[in-house]
Amino acid sequence: MSALRPSPIAPTVDFERDGVQHGFLRLPYSRDDSAWGSVMIPVCVVRSGKGSTALLTGGNHGDEYEGPLALYDLARTLDPKNVSGTVIIVPAMNYPAFRAGTRTSPIDKGNMNRSFPGRPDGTVTEKIADYFQRELLPRADIVFDFHSGGKTLDFVPFCAAHTLPDKAQEKKAFAAVEAFSAPFSMRMTEIDAVGMYDTAAEEMGKVFVTTELGGGGTSRAETVRIARRGILNVLRHAGIVEGAVEKGRTQWLDMPSGDCFAFAEEDGMIETMVDLGEPVEEGQVVARIHPVGRTGQAPQEIRARMSGLLAARHFPGLVKAGDCVSVLGVAVR
Ligand code: CA
Repeated sequence: MSALRPSPIAPTVDFERDGVQHGFLRLPYSRDDSAWGSVMIPVCVVRSGKGSTALLTGGNHGDEYEGPLALYDLARTLDPKNVSGTVIIVPAMNYPAFRAGTRTSPIDKGNMNRSFPGRPDGTVTEKIADYFQRELLPRADIVFDFHSGGKTLDFVPFCAAHTLPDKAQEKKAFAAVEAFSAPFSMRMTEIDAVGMYDTAAEEMGKVFVTTELGGGGTSRAETVRIARRGILNVLRHAGIVEGAVEKGRTQWLDMPSGDCFAFAEEDGMIETMVDLGEPVEEGQVVARIHPVGRTGQAPQEIRARMSGLLAARHFPGLVKAGDCVSVLGVAVR
């Protein structure tokens, strides 16, 4: 790592200074419409003395809005008088993607959550990932990354952490999930964890917490309320913001194996047979994919490979072979 060149990103804030600072992570990006231009990624630092550091991000994927809505709000309202330690807020981590309203960056098609550890001499997305990997993650004790389903998935609102080999680290992460107090709390399994911000933070030993709070390329009043209350709860739980955690009821869910995921094997028009949060029995048809090229064709039935409840579903009305159709969670405790 030490052989890598320094990051080209220059912060306009001082991470060691007390008070509130609103600034930028400025990333030089020379292009047709701006020869010596930069990508200006908004960052806020709220610091008051010694204490733990929380690193909070939204917009890792650019078409997910609960995180940015909660974090621009937190940056505007968090008073250092109520803080012990440091809160670093990057509401729109993949800022080019966020401005375009797309999951990946319009500059390089980079998926931030598949770009870690990044490269200081790589694409714009890789340079942002590298800055988080080498400059921001090492400062943090707790790392919170907001997600939702984006344009192509919709989720029941849950806060989540991963099962980890280090059980002490896992326990701290699940305690922070519990403090967030979303309607659901997930012990999460990834389809493919390589290159994820989650994995980078966890491999550094950080307490890493994430969410899936809805989706469809927008947000709902309820999910934004959950996000705003939840992030304050996590900061209170960590002892960084004063005040008691506002506990709410949460239902823990597990994703025990790859059987919780179902994928389309045909293109077509999707008919969901179960709504989010509803119970599903093994073998039950959770969705049907209707061929649309001609009449008279039977739909493909997508059957649950385990019992649980519908935690996520494909969002738009048309699907392609390979799309994730549904995700099941199993209620625990
Ligand atoms: Ca996401």
